[in-house]
Amino acid sequence: MSRVDRKPMMAGNWKMHHTHLEAIQVVQKLSYRLQGEDYDQVEVVVCPAFTALRSVQTTLDSDRIPIALGAQNVHFEPKGAFTGEVSPTMLAKLNVQYVIVGHSERRELFGETDDLVAKKLRAVLGAGMRPIVCVGETDDEREAGETETKVSGQVRAAFHGLKGDDAAKCVVAYEPIWALGTGKTATAADANATCGLARATLREIVGSVADGVRVLYGGSVKPGNIAELMAEPEVDGGLVGGASLDPDDFARIVQYHRSR
Ligand code: PEP
Repeated sequence: MSRVDRKPMMAGNWKMHHTHLEAIQVVQKLSYRLQGEDYDQVEVVVCPAFTALRSVQTTLDSDRIPIALGAQNVHFEPKGAFTGEVSPTMLAKLNVQYVIVGHSERRELFGETDDLVAKKLRAVLGAGMRPIVCVGETDDEREAGETETKVSGQVRAAFHGLKGDDAAKCVVAYEPIWALGTGKTATAADANATCGLARATLREIVGSVADGVRVLYGGSVKPGNIAELMAEPEVDGGLVGGASLDPDDFARIVQYHRSR
């Protein structure tokens, strides 16, 4: 299976930005800028903060906007005494289709381990949603030549023991940590090589199913660099932070295909 068979995805990770009122405006503006051909070519996902999920969901539903709803995090238990947490069932009931798991900010700032990421991945699948599993190396690891070990290790830890039909529902996002919010981007060739490595590692676990799994690149994706990244055969889309906050910029990123 080649890139041609994997529909590109652009997922906006809004992080801790946009109140629910701002989020409604952003998603509406984004929808005014996108046309049917954009949705035909690219799967568009927005991942608002928990507080904005319901408002964005009703906006998408009532205006019949074909943008998929994503969440930025989840707890792995279906319910219980976990103050401040949100369960997979709660998200699924809001028509959330994708959940980011293992973002480097969760791993670095909130102590999420590979083990926890693996549990969350399974919980997301168990609730009928699709995980976007983030992997990536720090600057120090890159300097030490440990990118491949780190990324393949994280992929193995997340997917170990997963059945092929479950893996087929997942998305992987390669996000070099040194490129997040820094304005530094991996070269298109490096992004391609590491996205390819993530896929090759997945292939060791689930075989040819891995060829249908989308592997996104994330790290200072902008309207000006997305076309070059998407020209690479192993890069199936972008996980976009800062540039997804602005509907004009995010629309231009989605519309990279128009310049082909
Ligand atoms: C991210 O943190 O997931 C991300 C891709 O951020 P940015 O695009 O701002 O580098």
